[in-house]
Amino acid sequence: MSGSEADRRIPLKRVRTRSRMSIDEKTSKTLKDLGVKAPEAVGELFAEVAAALGDERQALMTKGAANERERGLMAKELRDRWLARKGGIVALIDEHWLKPAPKELKPAVGRAFNELRKASASVEVDELLKSLPIRPAAKGQGKSSAAGQLPLPSLGEAAVAEAAGPDPTLPGHRRPLGSIHPVTRVMREIEEIFLGLGFAIESGPEIESVYYNFDALNIPESHPARDDWDTLYVNPETLLRTHTSPVQIRAMEKHGAPLYIICPGKAYRHENPDSTHSAMFHQVEGLAVDTDISFADLKGTLDYFAKKFFGDKIKTNFSPSFFPFTEPSGELAISCVFCGGQGCRVCKESGWVEVMGCGMVHPEVLRHGGIDPERYSGWAFGLGVERFAMMKYDINDIQLFQQGDVKFLEQF
Ligand SMILES: [Zn+2]
Repeated sequence: MSGSEADRRIPLKRVRTRSRMSIDEKTSKTLKDLGVKAPEAVGELFAEVAAALGDERQALMTKGAANERERGLMAKELRDRWLARKGGIVALIDEHWLKPAPKELKPAVGRAFNELRKASASVEVDELLKSLPIRPAAKGQGKSSAAGQLPLPSLGEAAVAEAAGPDPTLPGHRRPLGSIHPVTRVMREIEEIFLGLGFAIESGPEIESVYYNFDALNIPESHPARDDWDTLYVNPETLLRTHTSPVQIRAMEKHGAPLYIICPGKAYRHENPDSTHSAMFHQVEGLAVDTDISFADLKGTLDYFAKKFFGDKIKTNFSPSFFPFTEPSGELAISCVFCGGQGCRVCKESGWVEVMGCGMVHPEVLRHGGIDPERYSGWAFGLGVERFAMMKYDINDIQLFQQGDVKFLEQF
């Protein structure tokens, strides 16, 4: 979130909750941590959440907004606090209470959760805007001490506008200026770093043959990635490429060795969209082939890249992994950019975040590219551009990149 966004934030968390631990603290713990063992206790806990929901909504209505713009921001703030797909209170309850609930509590938690979900529709932005009043512009309006209990009568749009008069704080009419999409921005930044290292940019077709996408990369017929459930096939021999790796083979065939390339581009998978998955996403593939290339070159290059991209303080860590097209294969993790390696929710308290797969190119893959593995060796990596953009700009929903919402895009 950008600094100005944070500044505009309207404090909503001053509402008192009924017990020492706030709703925010409780939703970060599991039922077990909270000592909830019986269905009655589940009921009490959810009643507390429902009360907090009501209180916070009421506090907003009582406060009212100074103008249209603030009204929109206030409504969105409360909506996001409760309903954001990642980190919203309802999502946290799903994740921390419902999913790990012990078998005997599951029915009670499930029922209560459904009720809460229904109730939480009252903090959808549209719902809030229906009754969130705009304060008349009159001066010297003291708040009565009972304000917390008394809802203001909801005013119709027209009445509100009339009462408030013209609002001099409203911005004038300005032609909107476009900006570079965050995915493009991040992709260019990655390209810059590798161009500086002497790599060339290579591209390939998005509609790819099964051979280049799988066989040439040593991915066997039996591999689950080849299944209809993971891959979007055009016909039995043709598909929408599932990664940018086929460009490795095409580039080896075209240029031979030595070869230093990156391949930025789109990839497609048969995914249901959610906050971390999208059927279309962007990757950057990297490939270096030369005589005497070792794992040390891979480590050195990726460490340099990670520090250039995320900042000098970042530490890198390689751990073993498996990919059919590299041997040995590894995952590169960087010290968490959100907590500096101390441990937080994003890094699952580990202090590390895995950012890409990499490894030494499998001899079979070199051979498919027409390169003699006795003479040459190589390393490769593949990274997800959206994921990098999400980490760099602290974005929690991959769908935002494709929704074309100007409010989101104009922040970049
Ligand atoms: Zn962290």
